[in-house]
Amino acid sequence: MSVPAGAPAPRWLVGAVAVLVASNVAVAGGVVVDRTESRLAPRQGPVAGAHVAARAAIGADTQEVQRAVIALLGRRATAVRRHDITSFMATVDPLAPQAFKAAQRSSALALRVVPLSSWTYELDPDKAHDLPADRVPRYGGAATWSPDVLLSYQIAGFDPQPTVDEIYPTFVQRSGQWYLGAVDDLVSSGLTTQKGPWDFGPLLVTRTRSSIVFGHKGSTALARLVGGEIDRAVPRVDAVWRRPWAHKAVVILPATQQELETLIDEPNLDQIAAVATAESAARADGTQQAPVGDRVMVNPKNFRELGPLGRRVVLTHELTHIATRSSTAGGVPSWLVEGFADYVGYLGAGVPVKVAASELADDLDNGTKLKGLPTDDDFEATNPDLAQAYEGAWLANRLIAERVGPTGLAALYAAVGREASQGADVDEVVSAALEATVKLTLPEFTAAWRSYVRRQLR
Ligand SMILES: [Zn+2]
Repeated sequence: MSVPAGAPAPRWLVGAVAVLVASNVAVAGGVVVDRTESRLAPRQGPVAGAHVAARAAIGADTQEVQRAVIALLGRRATAVRRHDITSFMATVDPLAPQAFKAAQRSSALALRVVPLSSWTYELDPDKAHDLPADRVPRYGGAATWSPDVLLSYQIAGFDPQPTVDEIYPTFVQRSGQWYLGAVDDLVSSGLTTQKGPWDFGPLLVTRTRSSIVFGHKGSTALARLVGGEIDRAVPRVDAVWRRPWAHKAVVILPATQQELETLIDEPNLDQIAAVATAESAARADGTQQAPVGDRVMVNPKNFRELGPLGRRVVLTHELTHIATRSSTAGGVPSWLVEGFADYVGYLGAGVPVKVAASELADDLDNGTKLKGLPTDDDFEATNPDLAQAYEGAWLANRLIAERVGPTGLAALYAAVGREASQGADVDEVVSAALEATVKLTLPEFTAAWRSYVRRQLR
């Protein structure tokens, strides 16, 4: 879409659904210890020196090391919940580089303004990693241990369930005590500690009726703008999506696009104005848990270029993703997910079709032939024709709504989500849902969409 008064076509994606596989939760010493099948990148082979260091830590008295580190994490969690910087910093390796200590202090300070209803660490003693050779010297021969840890936390009043971040710490023993030594030793093995907005400097919190917005210095005006737009977007979403949902959103305003890319571990967001993210955990039996940690994250660079209408469309789009999340987890095709969010986003916005779908209109003018409905791959952030994918998807949803009304479209979305989450073939599910609502099979609907697009953009 081309947002009027907006510069080069900012895009958004539903994206960045981090997958965790968690099972067999047990509680030990106040800290939940979780045997976790994490989404881990293939690990590089053990490095000799590092292997020795790891052995030194967990060889003779593994249970004792585990207990000590679990207790350390417990003290750390308590310090976060109590805003106790001194106790928090007492968990950090006294011999760590100053830069690491400063970053730890900065995160702890920033966290003091975040309303948390929970903050806990879960440790998997069976998933420990050897240190890469270049990371060994900083510990000067001291015993180290690098097990997988999950951080779970809830934003008070917003997260009904804890959201889960993967972290990859190194613990180090100094004079008999265990400390946190680093969180980035395993980056070269593809194991990157997930960051929160509090890891990027002091936070400012802005509350509106339906949102809590976390920004950095100088973001207050933008935070009010975004929060106000979220408030106004809630009834717009409700007008189409009448199923239960939270009616509120946690919004993150990173200071830079790079911060956003780090937060969601997704490069190349040049075309993206905002992102709706969630974490989706898979159960041991392979089924998906309900998504947690819904967030709207803004790309400050592109978002600031949007006019009022663009901001309205983008944030209504993202809030639609949040409202529909529980129906989306099971594999709803992207043309339905993104097109539905754009349908709600544009509804009543008064944007002419040819303006909203200008890239697709240009393509048709230039003789490009429409193929099928946009595929999931077409919605990759790096697709040079990303705009056309969104526009085609929007028009497909608009066509359905013209035939069966907005609530009919919403019912189709929910039906596809329900069936797809039970493992049915997505094309068959979509086809059946289309037959039940618009009385067309998927191929028939695709043909109808082609002629509708041509008609609308002629
Ligand atoms: Zn989207």
